[in-house]
Amino acid sequence: MSDKHEPIGGSAPWRTGVRLAAVVAGGLALASCSFLDWGFMGGGSKAPPTAVDPSPTRSVFSLPRMGFPGLGLGGRGGVMSASERQCRAALRRRGVEFTDLAPIRDSAACGIDHPVRVSTLARGVTLKPAATLNCQTALAAAEWLQKDVGPAARKRYLTGIAEVNNMSSYSCRRIRGTSRWSEHSRGNALDIGSFTLKNGHVIDVSRQSLFAMRARGFLHAARAGACDEFSTVLGPGSDADHADHFHFDLRQRRTGYRHCD
Ligand SMILES: [Zn+2]
Repeated sequence: MSDKHEPIGGSAPWRTGVRLAAVVAGGLALASCSFLDWGFMGGGSKAPPTAVDPSPTRSVFSLPRMGFPGLGLGGRGGVMSASERQCRAALRRRGVEFTDLAPIRDSAACGIDHPVRVSTLARGVTLKPAATLNCQTALAAAEWLQKDVGPAARKRYLTGIAEVNNMSSYSCRRIRGTSRWSEHSRGNALDIGSFTLKNGHVIDVSRQSLFAMRARGFLHAARAGACDEFSTVLGPGSDADHADHFHFDLRQRRTGYRHCD
């Protein structure tokens, strides 16, 4: 599940936003910014209960929180942007079951501003175990499942997908053998190990034998389709670290390069 060859690139625009919030007189204003570089330590599970949600979505908000160095006040997560709200609306339209989590701040390098816990990728298609992702990655996974994987299964197996095996989602780690942080450390990546069809048949992502034509065709279609939704696609044959799973991420590179392997 490490990502030895996970290519390098810039950070995603939805994460880049404003680094420091305006501090409004009276100390009552909410800070609507990213805290990625503030060095705030602590996991999402330690987040305080949320209190303010002015939107009709299930967005998670926090009241101003005292104690950020140099600011005197701050918040965790802040107000959800329009793109974050639109992403959640798109998830609902696609029938994805998810819950908003409190912001995750494990370190300066690891965290998600507005994480979602995703338990299905479509109606009747379980993601197991549930994945912790940023919303854009969750949406890309749902679109991939619905546009590519479902049709590929119906074409080759005459049945649909019941379950997708999540091998890794948010994880605070570096790319193995390097000093670079994995896209998993921002909830920007998802690893898939297998698919279970509605008839119970399991298809492992691991390299199939030459004679397993149907499974090979299905996995090839699933992998090729992922290249339309993600900017990095790795799997068996890419390198030894991806011999048993697909790695998908939404890393944005300044050149616009997409690594479809
Ligand atoms: Zn991965």
